[in-house]
Amino acid sequence: MSKPKVTAIVLAGGKGSRMHSETPKQYLPLLGKPVLFYSLSAFEQSAVDEIILVTAAGEEDYCKKEIVDKYGIKKVAAVVAGGKERYHSVHRGLLKAQGAEYVLIHDGARPLISVSVINASINKVKETGACVVGMPVKDTIQLADESGKITDTPVRKLTWIAQTPQCFLYETAVSSYNKAIASGDTSITDDAMVVRKYAGADVFLLEGGYENIKITTPEDITIAEGFLKKQGV
Ligand code: C5P
Repeated sequence: MSKPKVTAIVLAGGKGSRMHSETPKQYLPLLGKPVLFYSLSAFEQSAVDEIILVTAAGEEDYCKKEIVDKYGIKKVAAVVAGGKERYHSVHRGLLKAQGAEYVLIHDGARPLISVSVINASINKVKETGACVVGMPVKDTIQLADESGKITDTPVRKLTWIAQTPQCFLYETAVSSYNKAIASGDTSITDDAMVVRKYAGADVFLLEGGYENIKITTPEDITIAEGFLKKQGV
């Protein structure tokens, strides 16, 4: 029997309006290399078999030439155009990942993902069928209504921030995303919520690291550079 194929879907289709920069955040320089390079490089060195890279429409050739080819990322099997929202981009990536047994969906804007966390998440998804990298929150989280009035306070020790990769059996992920897109659901911000809602699957958390931040606002570049320097990059 052949080894089950593990495919990473790396998302780089965002516009990054919160960066207030002409250049989308995934291409901004981090210690001289594009943000997107770092996560592609981690997947290249991990146990994943192939990578599907999702870019904004029209940026496929730029990404292939200036990042994939330039830095010698050999596991990239396809570069495909994403869609308007993150969940559209995930769906496009999933449709291109046919033949995979497991998929790891990762934000290309999280350059600090490590090879060891990727490999641990592959082991965990093989064991559970659905898992998400995250970290326990350090602060108390308050839920509020639109007016800012607190409506609930979840128990802190049970509260996690969700990061990526978010990892699933391919069939579970693609069938839930097909249903979510067909139903016109616009509330999706995370992959775990899609497979929980549309496949009724149990999804398990595993610890990533507090450094696995998503580059979102300009100060995140400085923070990420600090972490990379600490790792001796
Ligand atoms: O916008 P946000 O920070 O939530 O984006 C998370 C990840 O999803 C980023 O890596 C971004 O490039 C990607 N994305 C995408 N397609 C979109 C929006 C975001 O691939 N339409």
